[in-house]
Amino acid sequence: MFSYKNKIAHRKKITAPKKICTKNNAYEKYKIPRSEHSISRDNIDPNALKVLYRLHKAGYRALLVGGGVRDILLGKTPKDFDITTDATPEEVKAIFKNCRLIGRRFRLAHILFGYNIIEVATFRGPHNDQHLKDKHISKQSQDGMLLRDNVYGTMKEDAERRDFTINALYYDIADFSIYDFCDGMKDLESNKLKLIGEPNVRYREDPVRMLRAIRFAGKLDFKLTEDVYEPIKQLAPLLQDIPAARHFDEVIKLLLSGHGLITYRMLKEYQLFQILFPILFKNCEYDKSNHMIEQALIDSDNRIEQNKRITPAYIYAVILWYPLDHRAKTMSIQNSTDYYHEFLRATSEILKEQLQMIAIPRRFTTTIRDIWILQLRLPRNCGKRAHKIYQHIKFRAGFDFLSLRAKIEQTPELIDLTQWWEKYQEQHPLPKHNHSRKMLNNTSTENETTNEN
Ligand code: ATP
Ligand code: MG
Repeated sequence: MFSYKNKIAHRKKITAPKKICTKNNAYEKYKIPRSEHSISRDNIDPNALKVLYRLHKAGYRALLVGGGVRDILLGKTPKDFDITTDATPEEVKAIFKNCRLIGRRFRLAHILFGYNIIEVATFRGPHNDQHLKDKHISKQSQDGMLLRDNVYGTMKEDAERRDFTINALYYDIADFSIYDFCDGMKDLESNKLKLIGEPNVRYREDPVRMLRAIRFAGKLDFKLTEDVYEPIKQLAPLLQDIPAARHFDEVIKLLLSGHGLITYRMLKEYQLFQILFPILFKNCEYDKSNHMIEQALIDSDNRIEQNKRITPAYIYAVILWYPLDHRAKTMSIQNSTDYYHEFLRATSEILKEQLQMIAIPRRFTTTIRDIWILQLRLPRNCGKRAHKIYQHIKFRAGFDFLSLRAKIEQTPELIDLTQWWEKYQEQHPLPKHNHSRKMLNNTSTENETTNEN
């Protein structure tokens, strides 16, 4: 099947596999044979299969793990396919030309197939005092947070290092069986999200697990067991110690994976949203914000279901809109200056404050500003101005935002303005991809997706 068979045989001699776990029969009691489960190779991404086979043929253990196994067993389509192996990241790199090693906290290999990335992680193991001597391998903060998690171990030890029982199921490419070390199958059948190990310790090691708990409960419609939800409110502030870049990725997965509304409500209930977006809760207009966020999430959940494009910039623009408006109004009263002037100043301030918690990349902050500034320009719609605004590259996102505001505030001005622009668009249809549209506030050349149809 694979033409690179000889190459592998050659490489195998160079990097003899480190057999961390060879005693397969010790795992026999955790094994579910192919005939007793529903995972078929047809459900697995062909690139993931290539990686699995190639590792296997090079003499390493090669198993699918995490969401790939969990979602197939639940009859869902996995978002991505994560692979685990007893090969070290360097050994993986020696096998795959299209491999790059990433991560300091958690070192792993990415195998690149164009835009499709298959993540390969080496089995992790428990940390001991010996490991702590090398800060690249193991490092822990005073609160118990793992700043480096690069201690390798056996497959069973790896299972115990994972977050939830349903995420610790392993599909073995060697004989198509599944290994279940933590009773994940049982929890999968009873729709329960259960943490592996002592919740207080596991959340302190990596507070992002609290966000992941909410994400999986929302996405899978699973019940959080008491040990999972009980410590969250108290430990939520630990999220402040997580690097802001990691939060950006997590928030996208939380709010923009098609289950945004339910996930948002749970995040609020467990005091996690308050930690991620503190500005929102310093503001007296939270009810309005809440209404707008809920409506925007209903819309984006629908768009995702219909395979329509969405941009993270839009939801951030929504979340921070009323704090921005409030700040600009307050400043203009305090300084006796005009709202427009203070609005521009407040956009920078609000974004700067939010970026401390969530590192929103610049290409998105530019779009957030565009959407906001369009709110000031859309009312200036007479004569040639309307045409100029209409040419703005983010016009559609700005208009959608205006419609959303009209829905929330129900003021005659906003309703009339939305109707005016609706009519204008009907009378001046634009080609679907109008590359000649120019940006009015041209500070970047970014071209990420907008909320356009
Ligand atoms: P998704 O559908 O979002 O991809 P997933 O469960 O596959 O869900 P990933 O972030 O892709 O989540 O991670 C793959 C697997 O790695 C998880 O299923 C889990 O076993 C393990 N994992 C990921 N993050 C953590 C963490 N913070 N702590 C412990 N284990 C983790
Ligand atoms: Mg995954």
